[in-house]
Amino acid sequence: MTAIDPASSKPLPEPSALAQPFWAALRNGQLQLQRCTGCGHFNHPPRITCPKCHGKSLVWTEVAPRGTVYSYTIVHRAPMPCFKTDVPYAVALVDIEGTPARLLSNLSGPLDQVRVGMPVDVVFERASDEITLFKFAPAARSQEAPHAQH
Ligand SMILES: [Zn+2]
Repeated sequence: MTAIDPASSKPLPEPSALAQPFWAALRNGQLQLQRCTGCGHFNHPPRITCPKCHGKSLVWTEVAPRGTVYSYTIVHRAPMPCFKTDVPYAVALVDIEGTPARLLSNLSGPLDQVRVGMPVDVVFERASDEITLFKFAPAARSQEAPHAQH
């Protein structure tokens, strides 16, 4: 049975047992990824073994909720009728700062200002008691001079 966001009638993710810690962190306003204790690699999506060293000791680790746009697309045709009022909207693949992980989600803000390499922040959007979605928004730091970013 598909979970539905009661506020919008949109389908919600149904996390696997393996992904439960990721979604629990989102409920707490944190972005956590699996990190291998053997080699330090960050995984996403979650796995039972590290894809780099095949180690099995993976721990959930909080990462900075920000990154840069690796790629994006503008969706003009709603994938389901419940998304008709949202189009057009941007979906971005974002490199999460300090990790090799890339996460995919909606990116808010003016569509004509979306660029590869633009800095974004992760924003948390509560959709139900169980599900808090993560989305991206243009970073406040994008207005700063480049030398002020780090
Ligand atoms: Zn590893």
